[in-house]
Amino acid sequence: MTFDTVVIGAGPAGLTAALYAKRKGLTLAVIADSIGGQMSKTANIENYPGHEIIPGKQLALIMQEQIKQLGQDIVMDRVTGVERIGNRFRTTTATGKHFDSRTLIIATGAHWREIGVPGEKEFKNRGVSYCTTCDGPLFADMDVAVVGGANAAAESVLEMTHYATKVYMIVRSTLKADQILADRIMSSPKVTVLQGYTVEKITGTDFVEAIHIRSKAGEQKTLQVGGVFVEIGQDPNTDFLKGLVKTNDKGEIIIDEYCRTSVQGIYACGDVTDVPQKQVIVAAGEGAKAAMDVYTYLSTHR
Ligand SMILES: Cc1cc2nc3c(=O)[nH]c(=O)nc-3n(C[C@H](O)[C@H](O)[C@H](O)COP(=O)(O)OP(=O)(O)OC[C@H]3O[C@@H](n4cnc5c(N)ncnc54)[C@H](O)[C@@H]3O)c2cc1C
Repeated sequence: MTFDTVVIGAGPAGLTAALYAKRKGLTLAVIADSIGGQMSKTANIENYPGHEIIPGKQLALIMQEQIKQLGQDIVMDRVTGVERIGNRFRTTTATGKHFDSRTLIIATGAHWREIGVPGEKEFKNRGVSYCTTCDGPLFADMDVAVVGGANAAAESVLEMTHYATKVYMIVRSTLKADQILADRIMSSPKVTVLQGYTVEKITGTDFVEAIHIRSKAGEQKTLQVGGVFVEIGQDPNTDFLKGLVKTNDKGEIIIDEYCRTSVQGIYACGDVTDVPQKQVIVAAGEGAKAAMDVYTYLSTHR
């Protein structure tokens, strides 16, 4: 069977694209290795219209349920490759399945960046974490460090003030978080912000015991912490494309205002693209745009 479209990813972008594609009567397969994407790792979302405040996992479930009600399942698998065969696309998964389609909607989002210092890999899941919402409660009554200076790091710091005894925020240059978050951080007695410091290494025995940092002037500090949360940004999930579509210098897929990529028939939406605003509402909106243009494209390209 050749599907009208294959949606890769089930975060807000992919789930919305699937909703629109299904309602347009297209035949589709939705393939994802997790449901909800980054939403599922967000404690509360306070800026999605229609919900004053909603746990990220709950919003993901609502979106999933909405497409399930239309009879659309999600194939839980990891996409490992996409190739163009004539005017069709073949999507291959880690379990060896193939899905042929006339168009593709890539909605694979992004993943957290690593700092790349000694001890980071060694202590991953033994004190080093990339998801405060997932792991924060494990560090109750401990001192922890959060590495990063933008919004994700700021949210992580604020979340950790609910559990940890002390939170060090290690910022390479200056704090770049939204003013409202920066104000909350600065007024918390639990938080110490260390600006102009880079991480040199993370040490411990079985679990993390310390993070070693150095200022631009060469001053070294060792902070005794039980946990290190790395929140220094994200990279788009595009490995499986192996250069099939054009990307920018950050590796994000370049799209136009209709979510079209450099390859006719391949669309992209959400955090995987060069759209600068990385938000649930934006990803959902882009997913809708992508599916609507896929419908128009299929109507005119038989
Ligand atoms: C801690 C944190 C807090 C946030 N808070 C907010 C907030 O309050 N408000 C807000 O609007 N935004 C927030 N965001 C940002 C928001 O979550 C993202 O912008 C949004 O989830 C992006 O949606 P997406 O669908 O493009 O990608 P993602 O949510 O990243 O979803 C990607 C999907 O693709 C799948 N996938 C990836 N690679 C493959 C593959 N090879 N094969 C199969 N499937 C694959 C994943 O499993 C997932 O289903 C937050 C993000 C984080 C990390």
